[in-house]
Formats: sequence, structure tokens, C-alpha cells
Amino acid sequence: MTPLENFIKTQIREAGPMDVARFMTLALCHPEHGYYTRGEAFGADGDFTTAPEISQMFGEIIGVWAADLWQKSGAPDRFTLLECGPGRGTLMVDLLRGTKNVAGFHEALSVHMVEVSPALREKQVAALRGVGVTHHDTIASVPDDAPVIVIANEFLDALPVRQLVWQDGAWHERVLGLDDNDGLIWGVVQADPLLVKGLPGAVEEGAVLEIAPAREAFIRDTADLLKQATGAALFIDYGYDANPAYGDTLQAVQSHEPVSLLQEIGRSDLTAHVDFSSLAQVAQGEGLQVTDIITQGDFLRRCGIEQRAQALIATGGASEQVESALQRLTTAEQMGALFKVMGISYGG
Ligand code: SAH
Repeated sequence: MTPLENFIKTQIREAGPMDVARFMTLALCHPEHGYYTRGEAFGADGDFTTAPEISQMFGEIIGVWAADLWQKSGAPDRFTLLECGPGRGTLMVDLLRGTKNVAGFHEALSVHMVEVSPALREKQVAALRGVGVTHHDTIASVPDDAPVIVIANEFLDALPVRQLVWQDGAWHERVLGLDDNDGLIWGVVQADPLLVKGLPGAVEEGAVLEIAPAREAFIRDTADLLKQATGAALFIDYGYDANPAYGDTLQAVQSHEPVSLLQEIGRSDLTAHVDFSSLAQVAQGEGLQVTDIITQGDFLRRCGIEQRAQALIATGGASEQVESALQRLTTAEQMGALFKVMGISYGG
């Protein structure tokens, strides 16, 4: 039994069944035993590989997007470049290297990061060697005295969801409880009426609906920052844009394989797909402009990843590797279609 499993059982004994969001938060971010807190997860030897870890082209292309946005907004002489959930810091390293010839861009930017994990903060500082970075626990403390460009790749999917289940003519909530032998077991309880207010009723028996108050709160905080500071945010994640969308998308991954949610709690990554259209509605409700939700493949191609791949090969990059990374990032069979991109902005 992992220390975290023990901790969760004690919590349930003391406070009763635990909702999925609380379980996710503890599994990922418990201050001692959480998966991200321990921070050993990334890359080919780790549990999962993210787009920036597949190829330098990913961060470079995000850099193209950021530099273009900065130029189009009149090249302000000071701005905040904020990344949320930067993992090992690879995206930011590639972004900065890729934009070093954009006149004035580096002089104007200061790098800020929202990161919960002390271990990952250290890795980010080491990766960025010499570039000053200011870390924040949440986006709420990021300064709003200069325009902001926000980047978040596979960050929203790590923020917790709650799961509602339609059963016997009413919404229930999935919770974690204890069985007769003191083992962890999933069950459902009647959902809090305030939580399900306004949701469609009479859906198919057993249908699961994921709601993400933590993600909506994060989008509201981002909106507050953008309204004060002006600027834009780019979110890249696996998710969907149908609304409402039913289905249980919560999954645990260890060593690149799906595992049970309750196996070795705190030693596998937990994610749930992002409901982009709900988050778009929240941003719109806050008065922000929201782009179309497009696929990662389309986004990367529009920002020139194919040309970047050719340039890498022309300057001596191993063509097979570059070509295969390009396929992995952009084709519909791989990451190109499941991953979506959405931008929100304020102040033109
Ligand atoms: N963007 C990186 C890492 C994705 S993993 C990449 O693409 O490789 C998710 C990242 O978000 C990790 O850095 C994790 O520590 C961070 N994170 C997860 N939950 C968080 C929270 N609630 N607050 C701040 N950071 C969080």
C-alpha cells in the first residue's frame, strides 16, 4: 500500500466518501506523496511523453505564435511570458531558443511559471540556466502591470474533475469509499442539488458527466489577469468540444500503459479530457474573446511546423527522427486530432 493510499483511507474514515476531484488532487498534488510533487514522471523513461518532450519543434512553434502575437500587439517593451504547469521546462527552453533572433522579444519578456511541484520547479530552473524565472503557486499572484502571454500545455487535464452518474432517474456523484475489509471501493451517492442545478435530466441510464469546477475557476482567474494586464492565453490539451459530452475519461498512466486508478496511488499520472466548449463559455462570460477550438495538427501546420521540419533536416537534423516527430505531433492517428488548441484574449 502506498503512503497516499493510507492517507486517503484515513480521510474517508474521518470525513466520509471522497469525490473524484479530491482524490485527483491528493493523488497528483499531495504536498509529500503526490505524483507531481515527487516529479519523476516525464519523457521516454518516465510514465508519459508530452508534445514538448517529443520534439524541439513543438516549443519552437509555440514561440512563433508568441512572438507573432507580441509583434501584432505593437511589440510592447515589457511583457510577462507565463507558462502554467511547465513540467521539465522543455517547452520554454525551446521557445526561448527559437525566438532569440526576434529583435527586442527577449529584452521585453520576463518569464513566470505557475507550478505546484517543488521538484519540478527545480528542474525548470536548471533547464532554463541563467534565465530568471519567478514561480507562483497559482495564477492569482502573477503581476498584472504588463501585458501577459500565457501558455499551458497539458495543464488543464491535470486539474481535477468530479464525475456525475445518471442513475435511477437522478444525478449521483461517483465517490471513493471503504468496503467491509477496509479496501478502497468506488460507489455513488446522491449528488448535491447545487452541483447539478441546470444540468440536463433524463439522460441514458449510467451516463457519466464530468464537471470541472477547478478548471472553470482557473479560466476565471486567467480572465481576471488578462482583463487587468491585457494579453492572451493558449491552451493545448486532449479534449473535446461537444457540449455536454458524456463519458468517463479519467485515466491513470504508468510507464506509458493505462493502469487502474487505485493501483499505486500517487505513482501514476491521472488525467481527464478537457471540455473545451464549457471553458470557452466561461471565458466568454467573463467578456473575453475566444478563438475557434481547433486541432493540434491544424494549429501546428498553420504556424509553420512543416517548414520548420524541412529547415531542421536541411541543417543536418536526422531526417527520419524529424519526420517521425512531425507525424506524431500532427497526424490525426496520433496526437494531431485528439489534442485541441484554444486561445482566449482581452484587449485586441
Ligand atoms: N507542460 C508540461 C507538463 C505537463 S504535466 C509538458 O507538456 O510536458 C502537468 C504540469 O502541471 C506539471 O508541471 C505539474 O506539476 C503541473 N501541475 C499539475 N497540477 C497543478 C496545479 N494544481 N497547480 C499548478 N501546477 C500544477
